Amino acid sequence: MSTDSLSGASLSERARRHLWMHFTRMASYDEHEVPVLVRGDGAYVWDSNGKRYLEGLSGLFVVLVGHGRHELANVAAKQASELAYTPLWSYAHAPAVELAERLASLAPGDINRVFFTTGGSEAVETAWKLARQYFRMTGEPGRYKVISRDIAYHGTTMGALSVTGLPGIKTPFEPLVPGAVRVVNTDFYRAPDYLRDDYEAFGRWCADDIERRILMEGPESVACVFLEPVQNSGGCFPPPPGYFQQVREICDRYGVLLVSDEVITAFGRLGHWFGADRYGFQPDIITVAKGMTSGYSPIAAMMASDRLIEPFLGEKASFLHGITFAGHPVSAAVALANLDIIEGEGLLEHVRENEGVFRSTLEKLLDLPIVGEIRGDGYFYGIELVKDKETRETFNDEESEWLLRGFLSPALFDAGLICRCDDRGDPVIQVAPPLICGPEQFTEMEQIIRSVLTEAWKRI
Ligand code: PLP
Repeated sequence: MSTDSLSGASLSERARRHLWMHFTRMASYDEHEVPVLVRGDGAYVWDSNGKRYLEGLSGLFVVLVGHGRHELANVAAKQASELAYTPLWSYAHAPAVELAERLASLAPGDINRVFFTTGGSEAVETAWKLARQYFRMTGEPGRYKVISRDIAYHGTTMGALSVTGLPGIKTPFEPLVPGAVRVVNTDFYRAPDYLRDDYEAFGRWCADDIERRILMEGPESVACVFLEPVQNSGGCFPPPPGYFQQVREICDRYGVLLVSDEVITAFGRLGHWFGADRYGFQPDIITVAKGMTSGYSPIAAMMASDRLIEPFLGEKASFLHGITFAGHPVSAAVALANLDIIEGEGLLEHVRENEGVFRSTLEKLLDLPIVGEIRGDGYFYGIELVKDKETRETFNDEESEWLLRGFLSPALFDAGLICRCDDRGDPVIQVAPPLICGPEQFTEMEQIIRSVLTEAWKRI
């Protein structure tokens, strides 16, 4: 391919003509170049015009160990030359066996069975399907419903989209899979007035809502509850103290499975292998994806407790579900090498040691009139933007449209920071840097966000 055909302008033009970008208003590029990223190194990426950006979102919560890791590329090449592909239907391959064993050894408690998929949505679909078939096989065929939280994102395939709690991305595809119902999320900043000063009471109120919902639906009809350890969509809602412990008790009381959707939080984002470890609860199922290979090759998984595979071990029994590329040998080999890096370089400890500095660096932004709250844990933070700090008044739809899409997203990108401006709940900026980052990148992030928010406030 000629150098000219790889130039920024040419790539952008061809992208406009042929590339259908995800969740993207294509018309927004009618008058601007489509940004095309061509290279990465550590916590930074470069576009086709040679400009550098800080990876403030790790790609999409993916690139945990940073870019340019030749050892991961080499492992992929070696595996592709040895055995490029074989499915996980009827026979196994060595990287999948090793990876399943490794994940089982890392996962909390009796989560020892790993069903691979290619992405997070498929992992969520798989978890719901497993719950449904499991209950059919164990004499409770009426249990098919799933409970999840308002504004939570669990994926886009029809089952996962049904579990997702964002009406805006669901309605065009209705009717969806029946039996998916919602409860409140743990957005303490927007707690009812009478709970604003009591985080633990707020947590009890949130967990009680799950019990209320189970009773409203009829416990005999509820299969599982899907929760992220820290809810991403809405801008990083950590769990209040005691929340997950109470949810666990509720699930046990009514025989409902607890699924920890760790597509974002697994493999160190919160300074632990799993969010369940950080917040001290035992799920029945964990879904993982994104960071498992740091993005060097796609793979995901649904991990289940020993108890859940039992009915499937009987003669003639099987889980009636499979995906051609799931657990791909190249991706499985890369995942093992990626876990080696996370372990070998002590990245979990690194996150735990540095998360305090990350938080306090971001908290400096609280002196800006537009910053209402900084929330999150580990290397996973949301910055909520408000019109009035005193009253916590948020922006209306039109203001939010201008602020996030009209100004902040392009301005932050132009200033060299890739992060996410989101108004699926109230307007937020989200940051989740690679786990290799430290104070230097935190400061760079804070300074870029500060200057862009200061400019935005002047223009409001
Ligand atoms: N679950 C959660 C919590 C997610 O954050 C995502 C994606 O962001 C998904 C599921 C869907 O994953 P994927 O985009 O790999 O299908």
